[in-house]
Amino acid sequence: MNNLSYLKNVVTLKMDENKCTGCGMCLEVCPHQVFQMNGNRALIQKRDACMECGACRINCPAEAIYVESGVGCAAAVINSLLGKSDAACCCGPQTGPNGKNSGGCCC
Ligand code: SF4
Ligand code: SF4
Repeated sequence: MNNLSYLKNVVTLKMDENKCTGCGMCLEVCPHQVFQMNGNRALIQKRDACMECGACRINCPAEAIYVESGVGCAAAVINSLLGKSDAACCCGPQTGPNGKNSGGCCC
């Protein structure tokens, strides 16, 4: 998943480098390797690879990260798995051979 990126410059992800304590938790939890360490602080290295899952924001002990989760691709995957028919994603919901939504997605 290292080379995935979504639409350019639409991601809501922000980070306050002054609050960062350099714990590295965001690097641990991010499924798309968006963050990198820069000395004793993290920085956003690949913003357009972010799928707005919210894992980094939830797990940052310094509350240094902001991202609007629950509206992007990750939310669409979860909604799709829950059988919600309005689930949508960058490539649209996938339909399996039985005609049911299989929850597939580009991420
Ligand atoms: S989880 Fe928060 S405090 Fe820890 S490195 Fe990432 S931004 Fe910094
Ligand atoms: S919201 Fe998810 S994908 Fe985006 S930077 Fe945070 S952990 Fe990574």
